[in-house]
Amino acid sequence: MSFLTISHLEKSFGATRVVKDFNLDIEKGEFISLLGPSGCGKTTVLRMVAGFESPSAGSITIDGREVSSLKPNQRNIGMVFQAYALFPNLTVAQNVGFGLKVQGTPAREIAPRVAEMLKLIGLPEMGARYPYQLSGGQQQRVALARALAPKPQVLLLDEPLSALDAKVRVSLRNEIRMIQKELGITTIFVTHDQEEALSMSDRIVVMHQGIADQIGTPFEIYNTPATRFVAGFVGTLTTLQAQVIDGAAGHVRIGANDLWIYREVTGPEITLGLRPEMLRLGVADFDAGEAQLGGTILDVDFLGSVIRLKVDLGGETLAVDLFNNTRAAPPEVGSQVSLALHPSDALVIGG
Ligand code: ATP
Repeated sequence: MSFLTISHLEKSFGATRVVKDFNLDIEKGEFISLLGPSGCGKTTVLRMVAGFESPSAGSITIDGREVSSLKPNQRNIGMVFQAYALFPNLTVAQNVGFGLKVQGTPAREIAPRVAEMLKLIGLPEMGARYPYQLSGGQQQRVALARALAPKPQVLLLDEPLSALDAKVRVSLRNEIRMIQKELGITTIFVTHDQEEALSMSDRIVVMHQGIADQIGTPFEIYNTPATRFVAGFVGTLTTLQAQVIDGAAGHVRIGANDLWIYREVTGPEITLGLRPEMLRLGVADFDAGEAQLGGTILDVDFLGSVIRLKVDLGGETLAVDLFNNTRAAPPEVGSQVSLALHPSDALVIGG
């Protein structure tokens, strides 16, 4: 049996159902991200697990115990919020020890635990400071230490990185993941940032309009998106309309190009999804089995590590990324190019 089980969870505000038949089994020590656009219901799911919101229907069990009717402080959960939410009038050490004090832990036990937590988050010398004397990243680390100090069974993180600047965000996400692994604590992380979810998670739940569209490893979510929404939300994807020439053989036509995708398809038309990094440009040495697409360069966008091309395939436009590792000048707008593609990399988008 899973460590944390969410079954048929529902939430309505008035007549609006914002979480619909949400089901998730989480193993002990897993790092799970709830990923989706603003308003998809991910925070509402997290708040129901925390006990700040009561479900309209369904159940939540942690370590075999039904928690839906328990108060937040009875659930053995630690939580970190988007806004720093430290007590401004307490020192860092007092903030970190706050939960333990509330639980009635003797002072002689609080001090070493606080020291241990400050060491864990890499701020061993900062116990006497006040929150205003810390950077945003440091404040979030203290918030993490405060959540972890009482040794919760589950850690809930509600967009804890979104108020930080880009560099701090990346270093802190690595740090959070390291600490989470070190402690082996079961964690649910809410984010709308796909890169965060892809880089940090054991598994990702992609949410859309209150529903879990797909649950899978980062690799599965990116490479085999289950729905059109997941395909479009995670990573960059060009969708193309392809005319079906011979459905049984997987023979389709995109603009002026014939393509065999070697999968049976139905209908007069299908939608294909191609990721920009799946295409190679202007190569004379096509691999066996690679398809060729011919087109005209419409636009060249220099992005630093990659150069993104827009290529017209005869009515359909495709994004193509070239790694900026050849020192060759990018192709010019208007030039004719041929692109190589492994047919198995073309996603057939349904759902
Ligand atoms: P965000 O990233 O913007 O927080 P989210 O995916 O976390 O988005 P939720 O905060 O879970 O989304 O909100 C889901 C929907 O429920 C939204 O349409 C929101 O307006 C609505 N909602 C959330 N809380 C309440 C509430 N207390 N009363 C009424 N509607 C609410």
